[in-house]
Amino acid sequence: MKAVYTLADLRDWARATEGEPLSVRLAVVGDPVAHSASPAMHNAALEHCGIAARYVRLHLRAEELREGLSMIAGVGFVGVNCTIPHKAAALLAMDRVDEHAKRVGVVNTVMVEPGGTLAGFNTDGPGLVRAVDAEFGARLGDLRVMVLGAGGGAGRAIAIECALEGCRRVVLVNRTAEKARDLAGELSGLWRGTGAPAHRARVSAVEWEREALGRELREVDLVINCTSLGMGAGDSSPLPAAILHSGLILYDTIYTASRTQLMLAGDAVGARSANGFSMLLYQGALAFEIWFGRPAPVELMREALKVQARASR
Ligand code: NAP
Repeated sequence: MKAVYTLADLRDWARATEGEPLSVRLAVVGDPVAHSASPAMHNAALEHCGIAARYVRLHLRAEELREGLSMIAGVGFVGVNCTIPHKAAALLAMDRVDEHAKRVGVVNTVMVEPGGTLAGFNTDGPGLVRAVDAEFGARLGDLRVMVLGAGGGAGRAIAIECALEGCRRVVLVNRTAEKARDLAGELSGLWRGTGAPAHRARVSAVEWEREALGRELREVDLVINCTSLGMGAGDSSPLPAAILHSGLILYDTIYTASRTQLMLAGDAVGARSANGFSMLLYQGALAFEIWFGRPAPVELMREALKVQARASR
């Protein structure tokens, strides 16, 4: 059993998977991918549901993605998840993209359909909706939300989900401000599509500047950190405690630390917070439901993820 498969393995799949106790039918595709916790939760779910298949890690570089995805049907895959940095490029390699993923512009779940065609989906945004409900007992659409990192893949998916859920207000912030401004323009169009009144007042892009952020934070309920700031050792919180307040709820999509820097800053002012563990869990559960058309064993997947997280700390 290999820890990580590669494009060379896909080209000679029978030899590469010799000795695997179960057929490899699913994978997470990324670069890097060795750290991914997805195999732990999906293999636990597959075993629990009596599905004789294994979920592995597949390392494909950007220039290998198209060829790699074109080969998965031929070697009997049910589907794959795509992670950093392939989510946008994967969309271009699909034969069919569902409406939601098309709107978001990124694919994190691929399903091999009968005949071997590839269908693309996005479960990150819907996973976040479930996570906010599970962590805080709140409906995303009822909240005023600030999205930090509204220029990256996760930030874009989440900001669009906020629009589709009909959030009362969305404040977009990104280090490269132009990306947040462009996204704000797109989101206005989405609200217009719903026929909701005063759509223009609902979305704004704000400079990443302490005073402006402090002002905006007084007018939002939920802050979602979608930047990778906090993943590196020595990273500081994307927002200083001095501009946070106890009425905020903070969701950090980072799941590699149990208390992230943003959460620690929130602790200092008594704000409720959660890390990205629950989003990881629910995006995985939704992918499982797409592949197998049956409810995912969520609690079992949660336990498997926890064991994996403890082992990797
Ligand atoms: P990405 O596309 O590379 O985007 C990275 C984002 O972070 C961009 O907005 C970038 O701003 C910003 N950024 C990077 N370094 C920064 C810094 N030093 N200061 C301020 N902003 C900075 O990555 P992604 O796929 O969206 O992932 C982003 C985060 O979401 C990661 O931490 C990842 O773990 C998390 N995530 C979690 C889940 C989950 O299930 N929990 C799922 C997906 C992603 P610029 O545009 O200015 O470069």
